Amino acid sequence: MFLLKKFIRHFIKKFIPYKIILLARRFFYFIRSIFYKGSSFHCPICSFDASNFIDGGEDTKVNREKNIVGAGHFLNNFCPNCNSGYKERFFFLNLSNFLNQNSNLSILHIAPENSFSFLSSNIFLSHKYITADLSMRHVDLNLNLNHIPFDDNSFDVVIANHVFEHIDTDVNAMCEVFRVLKPNGKLFAQVPFSPLLDICFEGSDPYKLSNIQREALYGQYDHVRIYSLPCYLDRLISAGFTVSTYLPCDLYNLDIIHKYCLNDNEIFFDISKSS
Ligand SMILES: [Zn+2]
Repeated sequence: MFLLKKFIRHFIKKFIPYKIILLARRFFYFIRSIFYKGSSFHCPICSFDASNFIDGGEDTKVNREKNIVGAGHFLNNFCPNCNSGYKERFFFLNLSNFLNQNSNLSILHIAPENSFSFLSSNIFLSHKYITADLSMRHVDLNLNLNHIPFDDNSFDVVIANHVFEHIDTDVNAMCEVFRVLKPNGKLFAQVPFSPLLDICFEGSDPYKLSNIQREALYGQYDHVRIYSLPCYLDRLISAGFTVSTYLPCDLYNLDIIHKYCLNDNEIFFDISKSS
């Protein structure tokens, strides 16, 4: 089953034009959303009002046992209209608040979220915005985060949301992001983490493992570690960043947290290149 899913995903990615995939996805979500119209919940990304969101997420043994925040199964997780999960909605709120308070920023967005193609208002409009990824086809350029092809101090903002858990040389990638950020620049980089761990759970060569082995160890086939909170913070700080952490209740009132179906336990990492 796993191999079949992988084959189908590979076939779609390789042979079907991205615009066709996007249109098919939009059509499917549109039909699905009809059955979820209501007023109990609201998606800040696409502005859809829903009776409820859709339960779901990677329901793996390790995600349950390690109580992973930012991955795993979650009630009322996915918006029926744009398919954003709680982790994208929380990230979007924090990002849009920052961008709306500034203008003319240079932004590098790594691995842009699919749900952002459903944005009800373009939060990047008044900024210089570049999208990039290692292999995505619909971005402005393909790049490796270990060797970012830009000069030092090029960007005001780098967005790499749920990216570092996929990179074995994560500290090197963090140092590269630090290099291309301008002084006082911001990095938006949420990661899944286990509140039960004191240190990162990772091996020496995760790419030697099969997808099934990585999923069994790290909760998702393309993850290469499980971060602990202290470990993620230590690595960001070792790359040169200053970090503050906030729970949703530190930033938003309970009505917003409920209406947008956020995870009470998720942590926003406010990451800066302090000058
Ligand atoms: Zn939505």
